[in-house]
Amino acid sequence: MSKINLTSQIFSLSFLFCILVINVKAQNQIEKVLINEAERTTQDSFIFSAQTPKGARVFAASKPSSKMLNSIDAGLSDLFTVARRNNYSKRLKYSDYTIFIAKADRTKNSDSQYSPDIVIGAAQYARSIYDQGGFVYAAGLVLAFNPCAFVIAEHSKDFQRVSDVVRFEGEHLVLYHNHRKRYNKTADHSQGGGHPILQ
Ligand SMILES: [Zn+2]
Repeated sequence: MSKINLTSQIFSLSFLFCILVINVKAQNQIEKVLINEAERTTQDSFIFSAQTPKGARVFAASKPSSKMLNSIDAGLSDLFTVARRNNYSKRLKYSDYTIFIAKADRTKNSDSQYSPDIVIGAAQYARSIYDQGGFVYAAGLVLAFNPCAFVIAEHSKDFQRVSDVVRFEGEHLVLYHNHRKRYNKTADHSQGGGHPILQ
């Protein structure tokens, strides 16, 4: 090996190393922004981080139970199945998703059914049927599109509901990345329309 070759190899190695370091830094920065946004939206602190068995990223206000984590995987799995049926191919990996588990701001809905939900500012839902006077209760809320992130409430039972909420919030993200027109039409429920969107 000539000296020049060796030098250029060392150079490209250190270059690669720099890119890796920069990537890790950018990743951390994105994560920080995401966590800030989740904390601002829910008023919770997401001090626990975890991964579902299938590789989705989780931040939680309380230590997440394995039932919560497995139900998130089941919801994503349903989402990916229905997305493929619609010939969508983007963002269909578990690791594409970051899920925040917030503390429930209520555990029963107005019909006294078990329904852990989070409170969010009314904004576009003002004066719609969802409006409770400046705020609304939501089962879930999309936080970011890149990376795909949403928040749901912690459940201690009825884990099927967790899977459903994950699938439903995920629908917005899958549509955003695969079918923007349909995303735009279905993103705002105050104009009517709910879930499931994809059949
Ligand atoms: Zn929705």
